[in-house]
Amino acid sequence: MKVLVVGGAGYIGSHMVKMLDKAGHAVTTLDNLSNGYRDAVKYGEFVEGDIADEALLNQLFSDTGFDGVMHFASYIQVGESVEKPSMYYRNNVSNTQTLLDAMVEHGIKNFIFSSTAATFGEPEYTPIDEKHPQKPINPYGHSKLMVEQILADFDHAYGLKSVSLRYFNAAGADPEGELGERHVPETHLIPLVLQAASGRRQNITIFGEDYDTPDGTCIRDYIHINDLCSAHLLGLEHLVAGGDSRAYNMGNGQGYSIKEVIDVAKKVSGNDFDVLTGPRRDGDPARLVADSTLLQAELDWKPEYTELEMIIQHAWEWEKKVDSWQ
Ligand code: UDP
Repeated sequence: MKVLVVGGAGYIGSHMVKMLDKAGHAVTTLDNLSNGYRDAVKYGEFVEGDIADEALLNQLFSDTGFDGVMHFASYIQVGESVEKPSMYYRNNVSNTQTLLDAMVEHGIKNFIFSSTAATFGEPEYTPIDEKHPQKPINPYGHSKLMVEQILADFDHAYGLKSVSLRYFNAAGADPEGELGERHVPETHLIPLVLQAASGRRQNITIFGEDYDTPDGTCIRDYIHINDLCSAHLLGLEHLVAGGDSRAYNMGNGQGYSIKEVIDVAKKVSGNDFDVLTGPRRDGDPARLVADSTLLQAELDWKPEYTELEMIIQHAWEWEKKVDSWQ
């Protein structure tokens, strides 16, 4: 297949590009490098540019007959989305529509979309399946749900087929150690904990220890980056084979608390570090766990790296190589 990966220089996109290439597909990355890194694109073609640039999209789609487009180029910080909603709606919604319009214009019918657990808002029950009401509680979640809605309407009107994958907590790194997470600023738990383990941070603060969970800290569903990418590939194969549009929840189905993450990080790294307790972070539900039964049943997806220790081990290998990528 010929695949355009939008946002292929970012954390998830760069792992996707590698997986597609290794599976024998022809990959082109389109990325404006606002949050990505040119040197993270180790496979395929690279085009520097923005999905807001209609002329560029028209040229790209005229030159290459892509079988599908995977879209990873979104802003992802909940707090920032509350402070700067315009930026989130502009990039995550308006610019995505520009991309979709160009696809429709050029008859490219298959789209894989990075959605999020944040489209559900406050969980009414866990694990969260696809029937759970979608009531986002921040502009980030709203922006992703809006695109899911646009996709349903574009399928109906223009026959554009899509698979939306609602990620829970993407984590880990390339098992071969070539790629990993490189957010600036880093806000995610596992890389921050590993920065404490390597001595790049002095400590880690747990945001609240008084939740209604067994050890009082929040429980999340950490899914290995390669398992997440394999679902994207299955999604695209499903569409190219003529399958219908779908939206799936995607996680390990297994929740781990913040304290469990910290304990495993200490074990994997062999290093001790200070753990502080801080106040709760706004908008954090106690427990977020995915029910991925539908994805497993319909696309035959089987997560390979389900153990937290393995996820953290791969992230730790990447953290240890910080001098080579920072
Ligand atoms: N968290 C924490 N300390 C940190 C960063 C995160 O206690 O320095 C907590 C956060 O409040 C949440 C969990 O770790 O309960 C996972 O947070 P992350 O930002 O990685 O992902 P999210 O669940 O928000 O998508």
